[in-house]
Amino acid sequence: MKGRQKKPAQLRLFAPAGGEAPALTRGAPVTGLTPGAPREAAARDREIARALGAWFDGSARDLPWRRDRAPYAVWLSEIMLQQTRVETVIPYFERFLQRYPDVGALAAAEIDDVLHLWSGLGYYRRARQLHATAREVTERYGGAFPEEAEALRALSGIGAYTAGAIASIAFGKQAPLVDGNVARVLARVEGIDEPIKSPATVKRLWATAARLLPAERPGRFNEAMMELGATVCTPREPRCDACPLERLCVARAAGRERELPVVEGKRAVPVVELVSAVVADPEAGTLLFARRREGGLFGGLWEPPMIEALSAADARARLAALGLAFGRTRLREVGRVTHVLTHRRFEITVLAGPRHAGLSLRDELGAPYEKAAWLDPARPGVGVSTLARKVIAAADPEQKD
Ligand code: SF4
Repeated sequence: MKGRQKKPAQLRLFAPAGGEAPALTRGAPVTGLTPGAPREAAARDREIARALGAWFDGSARDLPWRRDRAPYAVWLSEIMLQQTRVETVIPYFERFLQRYPDVGALAAAEIDDVLHLWSGLGYYRRARQLHATAREVTERYGGAFPEEAEALRALSGIGAYTAGAIASIAFGKQAPLVDGNVARVLARVEGIDEPIKSPATVKRLWATAARLLPAERPGRFNEAMMELGATVCTPREPRCDACPLERLCVARAAGRERELPVVEGKRAVPVVELVSAVVADPEAGTLLFARRREGGLFGGLWEPPMIEALSAADARARLAALGLAFGRTRLREVGRVTHVLTHRRFEITVLAGPRHAGLSLRDELGAPYEKAAWLDPARPGVGVSTLARKVIAAADPEQKD
């Protein structure tokens, strides 16, 4: 498993073409920039696995999910680590295991409780999917994960990468995996000079991962690849002199370790202008929150009402049309918040003020909201996104860092 850099959205980007991981092709000749006869190539493959395994045994970081190879813990950590740094995940992982010690406990939980515990970890769709998958495992398999990667992949929310991780790490199955870290390591070790996210390269990466995977302790090999990508073969500054694969690495031999992998230019992220209204009930010590409807961005989470608008007046009118009418509540601009997701950047103007006469809330709000409530921002008891926390902090100087 990993301790790693932020992972890109590898579940989709590095899913093998055709939906399935390729069959193992161990012993196949190394192609690309690597010369050598098939027998030499096979020997090199074995040496890569050996060197990597030995390095991992001596250098792996002590991470909480490495103390328990139970499939539930492997699955939980892998989902949490998607797009999220190791240091951020650790306390969430520990809290989740404490509250929901097994898949049955998670399946029995209310989704609002799960989202609450997930608050601040971001990419909330993962929490909803986690909950749905837990229910599926409980209903279809009585709470025990299937062992084979193929059966794991048949579960909703488990892609090729996660299936490979659970099957190999928890069950010792010879199942390959490729994520962003592994793709980078393989592209360098093998000297793959093609765009890393092209379908042909993704297919080749999966085939290479399968070919290199040893029959003995495949889970350790997969974890070692991920660990190497996270700690040594990093995107910008690979530490080749500390790498167990240095003398086996094609990119290193060619002096091209910083040129590979080939990453095509990123598209510009669209900017969305929002206005948020942080309305306080000073006597009760609460703020007005609205719950987003399930299915959309931040679905099921609570936040101070916010809406796409170009001015405060425009925002008030639009929120009133949804059923959030502020009456004579005076709101003044108190700050700006920027929040970046992979696919868009939010620029939020934050308005704030105490509630006043004429404020009225409809029972059922218009989309994207569902309902409103007055909640204690310090202990809301429901899921609140990081973006919403930033907005609240901007409205309350005492909550700013
Ligand atoms: S030698 Fe350098 S480029 Fe090659 S795998 Fe190791 S760290 Fe990465």
